[in-house]
Amino acid sequence: RRALGSLGKSRAKFISAEETTGVTFDDFAGQEYIKRELQEIVRILKNDEEFQDKGIYCPKGVLLHGPPGTGKTLLAKAIAGEAGLPFFAANGTDFVEMFVGVAAARVKDLFSSARSFSPSIIFIDEIDAIGSKRGGPDVGGGGAEREQGLLQILTEMDGFKEFTSQVLVIGATNRLDILDPALLRKGRFDKIIRVGLPSKDGRLAILQVHARNKFFQSEKEKDILLQEIAELTVDFTGAELQNILNEAGILTARKDQDYIGREELLEALKRQKGTFETGQEDSTEIPHELNLRMAYREAAVAVLACYYPDPHRPFVETDINAIRSKPNMRYAETSGKAFLRKSDYVSSIVRACAPRVIEEEMFGIDNLCWISAKATSEASRLTEMLILQTGMTAFGKTFYRTQSDLVPNLAPKLEALREEYMRFAVEKCASVLREYRSAVETITNILLERGEIKAEKIWEVYKKAPRIPQAPVHP
Ligand code: ADP
Repeated sequence: RRALGSLGKSRAKFISAEETTGVTFDDFAGQEYIKRELQEIVRILKNDEEFQDKGIYCPKGVLLHGPPGTGKTLLAKAIAGEAGLPFFAANGTDFVEMFVGVAAARVKDLFSSARSFSPSIIFIDEIDAIGSKRGGPDVGGGGAEREQGLLQILTEMDGFKEFTSQVLVIGATNRLDILDPALLRKGRFDKIIRVGLPSKDGRLAILQVHARNKFFQSEKEKDILLQEIAELTVDFTGAELQNILNEAGILTARKDQDYIGREELLEALKRQKGTFETGQEDSTEIPHELNLRMAYREAAVAVLACYYPDPHRPFVETDINAIRSKPNMRYAETSGKAFLRKSDYVSSIVRACAPRVIEEEMFGIDNLCWISAKATSEASRLTEMLILQTGMTAFGKTFYRTQSDLVPNLAPKLEALREEYMRFAVEKCASVLREYRSAVETITNILLERGEIKAEKIWEVYKKAPRIPQAPVHP
């Protein structure tokens, strides 16, 4: 083997084949089908020429996707270990830099290092950080830069010559939905494997793997205990199961006992569940992603509140300090002479769509959460009220207390009309948010930084923000 030296700008960690031989497929338990698929790849990698003679080529890219802690990294290492190949590990976030050209240069470096040791394996964890859809939401900033990095990955993968420089690229992500489709095309990551949460049998198998180096009173006792833990750990990941056993080992040692017993295991399980449920009892910290979602929601609500100001109920301030399914925006007391026209009702429906529209825009349609559900029900409720109770729409002048007052043949008419209003409201809301995209971002940043924002500041940002002209939306 050549001397390794520095890997330049790629920051990728080089782990030599010797270091990875420790990890094999035996270390990964449960989901046997995954191992079968990967074992086949290892066979092709090992007998490269033999398979090539038969016209069988190793896939260039394997994408492992699934929740964190389910063993994706472990699998990638096991492939390297089993095939006895050098392993280059990088993280998608390593490539995301605000400086022009750096991301692409790092990708280039990584691939050329791997190629000079080929056959070899490149592992890119959190590949979504660099490989998300182009032209999509630019949550972290540096969008153009990231795009350059992504293009470079595509170029590198297309550039492999099947016969000479065999480099297998393994990507891992828990956000398959936001990956750029170009990455998934034939000749790139064309083998996609889902690594899911383990079943009960899978959990037992994982526990057995991690119990290998632990002491129990007897084999029989161990089997009974692990069986019990496997039953109590629905939705736990492999990493969490491993933690339970480690924690139980620590508790056992602390008590100066020789064997892990039932009590220690149950105590460890309880502790794992505590951290698992975000430790809400002893901390009120809001998880980062929820924080970001709430900041965008409040920013969108604020922009819409400026766009369609309600003169009778001015907004006062908002924050992201409390988790609520409805927006946190606070309004002044309703002033006396409220008189609402049809257009005011319609505006209120458009405003109510803001949390849902921004969430879809920023996080993707496959990644909505309860914030969206709440907004959808609120907007539908307002629409229904406008149609059934005001007599202002094509539905007619009759007042209906609720939908259940309707004679059956009117129901489809209500549905059709409600669809129409909702479609307009969502489109109009999306158009406003795109036009004021810059204001949304600024308010979001202020909220993330300070936790709250007052009406005065919101108006200032709204009025100063550059706008992106949009095509008109027609009712
Ligand atoms: P991911 O890359 O999916 O986030 P990791 O591979 O980093 O997950 O998993 C962390 C650790 O959890 C692994 O090193 C391993 O010890 C344990 N683990 C996870 N899944 C399994 C599994 N199916 N079998 C055995 N151990 C597992």
